Amino acid sequence: MERLAKYIARCGICSRRKAEELILDGVIKVNGKIITDVAVNVDSTDVSVKLNNKLIQPPRNKYILLNKPKGYVTTKKDTHARKTVMDLLPKHFHDVNPVGRLDKDTKGLLLLTNDGEFAQRLAHPRFSVPKKYKVLVEGYLSDEDLDILRTGVRLPDGITQPAEVKLGKRTSKGTLILITIKEGRKRQVRRMIEFTLHEVLELVRVAVGPVIIRG
Ligand code: URA
Repeated sequence: MERLAKYIARCGICSRRKAEELILDGVIKVNGKIITDVAVNVDSTDVSVKLNNKLIQPPRNKYILLNKPKGYVTTKKDTHARKTVMDLLPKHFHDVNPVGRLDKDTKGLLLLTNDGEFAQRLAHPRFSVPKKYKVLVEGYLSDEDLDILRTGVRLPDGITQPAEVKLGKRTSKGTLILITIKEGRKRQVRRMIEFTLHEVLELVRVAVGPVIIRG
């Protein structure tokens, strides 16, 4: 259930405040009945709301799971004219926003949506949604290095929270690890690896909460 004015505002015709005025003006019908009480709640999944006898509806929620390639920045518009993730989507999906961000050279799972609550639920630090990355690190990452990443490293913006770190394999190319963090600071995984004096060769996000892709 939600306030009628909020529902009207979500239809994109006016602000919530203006919607309250419309309700008081007696031009809003809910399920065929004029409503002038701004305290009324509606069930947005099962309601018909009319403004001056014309049905109004919020836009449908869109959820996109993008397997982002390297070379695209996670913004809607880039001030430096670089390619953005929006360039990968057809025009009719350009009303969505990226949930969180992936660096230009990071690949993998990026969610985009026009559902603000869903985005907030996934991206806000207070919900601590786990994000899992497959990382190819240059050189030999020792067991001590793995423990440092697990325990927390001191970055200029504070010590990182404990992370889950699993060793994939050590090859001639470097060390492959899987790291799961619950924070989402800027370039966090890259900065954590840099702390161990190694370089990230490849970074792929393979999961955000329950949403998984094959990395
Ligand atoms: N951590 C990074 O360093 N980069 C990303 O794109 C995501 C997490």
